[in-house]
Amino acid sequence: MFSTGIDVGPPAREAVRPDSHEGLVYQVCRWCGTASFRKLLCPVCASSDLESERSDGYGVVVRSSVVNRYSRVMRNESLVRFPEGFVYRCRIVGAAPHLVNVGDRVRPVGGRTSEAGEVVLELCEPPGSSGWY
Ligand SMILES: [Zn+2]
Repeated sequence: MFSTGIDVGPPAREAVRPDSHEGLVYQVCRWCGTASFRKLLCPVCASSDLESERSDGYGVVVRSSVVNRYSRVMRNESLVRFPEGFVYRCRIVGAAPHLVNVGDRVRPVGGRTSEAGEVVLELCEPPGSSGWY
């Protein structure tokens, strides 16, 4: 009777994260200082004593590959190196998949960086803005 009609809670389906401002959270090993991303153990010394740090998320593409497994869902998955010292496979949007090149600078896409495990980045400079002279 009193419990119907009033919806008190905010719509929590979308699971808004409190730290939704831009950037990526990565881990630094307390023992050897190695930076890693989404690892449970330090890739160097296998310690589980990792400390979370925040990166601004700007990185550079070190390997670009087009994933075209299902012909109409072509997309780019690139290995991106971050200045903090880790490399991670990320999805690059904002450009045609084959226009993402090694050396391109990328940054996080606001609000789209991955609950589901996928890190989504966009090109800092859209293709065509340089190189068309
Ligand atoms: Zn370590």
